Amino acid sequence: MPDLIPYKGRFAPSPTGPLHFGSLLTALASFCEAKAHAGQWLLRIEDTDIPRIQPGAETAILTALGAFGFEWDEEVVFQRQRLALYEAALEQLQQHDLIYACQCSRKQLTGLTTYPQTCRTLNLPFEQHAIRLKTLTQTICFDDLIQGHCCENLSQTTGDFVLKRRDGIISYQLAVVVDDALQGITHVVRGADLLDNTSRQIWLGQCLNVPQLHYCHIPLAMNEQGQKLSKQNLAKPLDLKQAPQLIQQALQALNQPDVEVDSPKKMLAQAVSQWDIGKVVKKIQLVESFE
Ligand SMILES: [Zn+2]
Repeated sequence: MPDLIPYKGRFAPSPTGPLHFGSLLTALASFCEAKAHAGQWLLRIEDTDIPRIQPGAETAILTALGAFGFEWDEEVVFQRQRLALYEAALEQLQQHDLIYACQCSRKQLTGLTTYPQTCRTLNLPFEQHAIRLKTLTQTICFDDLIQGHCCENLSQTTGDFVLKRRDGIISYQLAVVVDDALQGITHVVRGADLLDNTSRQIWLGQCLNVPQLHYCHIPLAMNEQGQKLSKQNLAKPLDLKQAPQLIQQALQALNQPDVEVDSPKKMLAQAVSQWDIGKVVKKIQLVESFE
């Protein structure tokens, strides 16, 4: 029986390199969880960090997702086309006195994990400066479907955090929260490397008065050196010719039953019909290594 609550999930890769096995785990888990709830699954390209974009990566990502049988509902959203929406969110926050300009150099902040609020009361102009969101001393808690009950006191961890960099680049946090809200996303399924961003995103969502999302952070695939598979440490790009085998391997990593080897689309359909998120191991990292 499909759930009666509406479900809208998404997969949101950055075009900083090709998709790898870790990306496949996230795509597969978010897709199956959405479809098993008779929900929609959207695709968003997170390309606000322009200096880190790799030419051709965006096309490679779309091609790979197609080759692995994924179909998304609604048109693909590209964050670089939505800068005006992020600026509008900043204006809204400014009207409520929730943000301020920060002139601290990277050097001044070296070695600090918590921003010491140096510029909070300086009333600096917003132009040519980084923009930070004020944090409160109250603890933010949420129940993650896999990682359990998580709490964070942002004033003791990150402190007031950056929403827009001095060079004008919109932060990941701001773009994600604005887009999840505008796209009507209800459920976020993503890698556990983003777990420690969640409290910041919940707080920012509260500041922008948007509905809180349901979160599910799946365990990370690691390489033989014990590093998470990532574009930064040059994880092997997905081999499109091996799509059926890789789908099977990804389902095994997520502790799901095997599916019959067939076209990727048919394999995904069977994976959805057998999907049970409760079977995914409740860990930050998978024990076995990949690649
Ligand atoms: Zn500062």
